[in-house]
Amino acid sequence: MKLIDFLSGPGGLPDAFLFDIDGTLLYGNRPQPGAAKLLALLRRRKIPFFFLTNDGTHTHQEKSTLLNNAGIDAFPEEMISCTDPVSPEFARRGWSDKRFFLIGNPANVPGIRVETNRERLESCDGLLFCGGPHDWHADFTALFNFFRRHPDRLLVVPNPDLFNPLPDGVSLCPFGQMQLVLTLLERIGIQLEPVHFGKPYGSVYDLAMQRFGAGIDRKNVLCVGDLLDSDILGANRAGMVSALVLTGLTTAAQAAAAPDSRRPHHIFEAIG
Ligand SMILES: [Mg+2]
Repeated sequence: MKLIDFLSGPGGLPDAFLFDIDGTLLYGNRPQPGAAKLLALLRRRKIPFFFLTNDGTHTHQEKSTLLNNAGIDAFPEEMISCTDPVSPEFARRGWSDKRFFLIGNPANVPGIRVETNRERLESCDGLLFCGGPHDWHADFTALFNFFRRHPDRLLVVPNPDLFNPLPDGVSLCPFGQMQLVLTLLERIGIQLEPVHFGKPYGSVYDLAMQRFGAGIDRKNVLCVGDLLDSDILGANRAGMVSALVLTGLTTAAQAAAAPDSRRPHHIFEAIG
C-alpha cells in the first residue's frame, strides 16, 4: 500500500508528521513519487509537519534548496537536523567552554567554540564531525594520532547513520567515514565512545515536540522514514507512530525480520 492512499482511508490524517528526507522524500537529487503531492495536501489541510533529517552537513537553507530543486516545497524554518541539539546538549553536559576541532560548517553549530586549523588540533578538547568536503587523508591521519595520544578526548558525531542512499549505491555519512579511524584505533586497543544527537536519539524528537507546540500529542505524530535503525527505532522510542517506506535503504524482508524495538507500526511500498 502507498502512504498517500492509507491517509485517505478511514483512519484519516494524524495530528502531525515528521518526514525523513534522504531515501524518503528524495533519492539522491530526485524526488520520490508522491512526495510533493503529499506535502502540498498537508499544507492545504494545515496539518503541521517538520523535516527531521540526520544530515548535519548542509545548512537548513541548503537542505530546503535541495528539496526545492527536486520540485518539493520546503522552507528552512521547517528543518530539524541532527546538529540542532548540539548547542543545548553541550550546555547541558557542561561542555560550553570546551573547544572542538570541527569537520563541517560552523554555521550548523552556532555558539560552539570550534577550531578548523588542523595545526591546532592537539589543543582541542575533542572532535565535532558534522561532515562535508574535507581532506580525508590528512584529517584521518591527524585524528588517528590525536586519539591515539588522547583516548579520553571527546568524539561527537551528531549523525549516527553510516550510509546515505543514492541511486547508484550509497555515500558514506560522517560516522561511516569515522569508522575507518575507529577500526584502526581498535586494532591498537583504543575504544572510543562516540556521542550522537540525531535519530534515533531522543533530543531531536523532543525538539520537534517543542516546535509543534501545545496541542500536538506525540502519540498522534506519524514519523515517516526509510531506516529501521534511525527513523523507526527513534520514532518508537519517542512514543510516536513509525512508518517505514521501502523506497530507501530497507527491504521488505529486513522490515519483516526487525526486532520489536525497530518494528514499524506501518510499512508502505512508497509515498505515492
Ligand atoms: Mg533516510
